[in-house]
Amino acid sequence: MKTIIRNVCIVNEGVRKMGDVLITNERIEKIEASIQNVGAGFIKEINGEGLYLLPGMIDDQVHFREPGLTHKGDIYSESRAAVAGGITSFMEMPNTIPNTLTLELLEEKYLIASKKSMANYSFFMGISQHNLEEALKINNENVCGITDDGLYFNNDKGILANYPDFLEKLFAHSNTLVALHSEDDGIIHHNTSELRKIYGEDIPIQFHPAIRSEEACVIATKRILDIAKKHNNRLHLFHISTLAEANLFDNTTPIQEKRITAEACVHHLYFSDKDYEQLGTKIKWNPAIKTKEDKDGLLAALLNNHLDIIATDHAPHSIEEKSGTYFKAMSGGPLVQHALPAMLELVHKGSISLEKLVEKMSHHVAEIYRIKERGYIREGYYADLVLLDLNHAWQVTTANTLYKCQWSPFENQYFKSKILKTFVNGNLVYENEKIQSDPVGKRLKFSKIR
Ligand SMILES: [Zn+2]
Repeated sequence: MKTIIRNVCIVNEGVRKMGDVLITNERIEKIEASIQNVGAGFIKEINGEGLYLLPGMIDDQVHFREPGLTHKGDIYSESRAAVAGGITSFMEMPNTIPNTLTLELLEEKYLIASKKSMANYSFFMGISQHNLEEALKINNENVCGITDDGLYFNNDKGILANYPDFLEKLFAHSNTLVALHSEDDGIIHHNTSELRKIYGEDIPIQFHPAIRSEEACVIATKRILDIAKKHNNRLHLFHISTLAEANLFDNTTPIQEKRITAEACVHHLYFSDKDYEQLGTKIKWNPAIKTKEDKDGLLAALLNNHLDIIATDHAPHSIEEKSGTYFKAMSGGPLVQHALPAMLELVHKGSISLEKLVEKMSHHVAEIYRIKERGYIREGYYADLVLLDLNHAWQVTTANTLYKCQWSPFENQYFKSKILKTFVNGNLVYENEKIQSDPVGKRLKFSKIR
């Protein structure tokens, strides 16, 4: 099976170049200014004139809800939405039901994905109070890492960031990547009870960032960083939401050598507290969306490499689960289908270059997780590719939304850029606004951690 994309603008490794890309079976065989000899056999020709070819986005933080919460989403439905959004690989969180706290439960998720995933996949091992020994058994050439994201450490609903003694133990013994959610529960509980005194059960959503405050994020992040640095652990922090935290990360070490890395998420880069009035609990996320200064500061931190990558934290809930009073409405929302188009709006505004966006959504995700043979447009690498039209406006509607939950925080919005085609392992999986193939995702492989 051969496909050739001709006369396309290839955006890769900091530059854009006009040329042809030849895909043979699963891989990129040739990249040249003009490919003459394509060899024998049937060849599908794609005219790339006026279009851009990017490496597929690699999203290191999604909640696809299977097993156990499949009324919200499942690996099939959400991986379809992901490839429609130009995401060709994902890493998934352990707060499915049952929580992914044993090697056996972890392998069950890989088995489901091997049959149902449109995109390439890895699943995080969960960590909580009672499974440290089990969690440390993962093979880091085969599993992306260990995380607490979405899990409570113990029954009083605190999260791991609030247990420094356990973090010490975890970092002292772990030789794999540990990725954490960082907020301080004590501060959040205090802020909640203060606002409850005034508003009772009906706290206005605008106060979400006052409850899940900057202080709650900064204190927890400093605590985690202190312990990880002491042990020189391979730490990644998910969804940094404040400028104050972004400045805590090093921007002098080359990406391949960083022991501590961090990310910003699409919603924190796109929305600010000004949007609560219009969008309400639809944009209730943990950590909360904060001020415009934080939003702008996170983008600046990506540009100057204090922050390393962009992720989605895609976390679908049914529209009923997102409705109701402050305490009832769940946190999280669906993003994988719209993350790249939303970030391309920032490119149109001139806030970030296309080359830098590709670095933060593909190249550096591959680097910090040590993903083999993906994340770049290189001869011999897997053909995980996105073909884009930067000047093809379209509107987000319920009808063209592929999430099982059937809503989006971007509903009714127009995006200037459109994803025309997505390739996963050389297969054309998405074209003409439709999924075009059966599941073809493969398990991600990683180089051994230092
Ligand atoms: Zn989280």
